[in-house]
Amino acid sequence: MSLAEKHIRQRTIRSAIGCVGVGLHTGARVALTLRPASADSGIRFVREDRPGSPHIEACIETVADTTRCTLLRSPCGATVSTVEHLMAALAAWGIDNIEIALDGPEVPAMDGSARSFFFLLGCAGIVEQDAPRRVLEILHPVTVQHGERSASLRPHQGFAVDMSIDFAHAAIGRQRLAVEVDGESFPSELAGARTFGFAEDVDSLRAQGLARGGSLDNAVVVSERGVLNPEGLRWPDEFVRHKALDAIGDLFLAGPIQGRFVGRGSGHMLHVKLLRRLLADRSAWRVVGADLEQPSALVHAAQLGAD
Ligand SMILES: [Zn+2]
Repeated sequence: MSLAEKHIRQRTIRSAIGCVGVGLHTGARVALTLRPASADSGIRFVREDRPGSPHIEACIETVADTTRCTLLRSPCGATVSTVEHLMAALAAWGIDNIEIALDGPEVPAMDGSARSFFFLLGCAGIVEQDAPRRVLEILHPVTVQHGERSASLRPHQGFAVDMSIDFAHAAIGRQRLAVEVDGESFPSELAGARTFGFAEDVDSLRAQGLARGGSLDNAVVVSERGVLNPEGLRWPDEFVRHKALDAIGDLFLAGPIQGRFVGRGSGHMLHVKLLRRLLADRSAWRVVGADLEQPSALVHAAQLGAD
């Protein structure tokens, strides 16, 4: 039976839960609180440090920047950055509705992976809601390219990710991971894979105002001599696992997908471009599980394609 045919119900968390950490790029200390939300309300960030506590919907329409991380901006100008690892954990638990309150501009990096967020959501508890889940079923392949890099979505019975990377660094080289993403594979194969960067880029990133909170506690740092983290890697191919994690988080900006993602060196920019191209091609997908008239992040995104 396909994902779409299961007519799964929407999910939120049972009770509020939070954590505190430092933003990877801004270096700001941020408290994050996850709260249950009603059916059909979607995934919503709330900037509680800003006057009027503006909301920022997590959907493809609000993506404003994909330089090094995925940044969302509301119509009123409120932003939240580095949403992708938290989004991946929400995707893995199948959460459709949640309020994510922050007192700063960036989701805390925690250890650079999605492990803390996956754990927090599990501690909060997952509850089903009285509304069917909307799943975006891929009907025919859609691909975007940028030089040697590409990203595509193809028809598939479940949700799978096939990611490959090729870096000139000896510590990385060519890596590929193909995995069916579900509640078992995500915590064991993907959630713990940390973000990574190159020692030679640190100065230029900081000059651009990025990676200010980055350290060996929340990122794998690679130099010509190899991995600088004293504890080493969590998997020999931790790098491609992290890229797969990023793709899962970015793709969840369109809600749950029934399809197979294939990334060849793809990152946030191509993932967002892929979703925009997909949603603009009305013959490439259908929404299964609910009435299209209902408001949701996915329907907002679909309307963007129709403009
Ligand atoms: Zn990442």
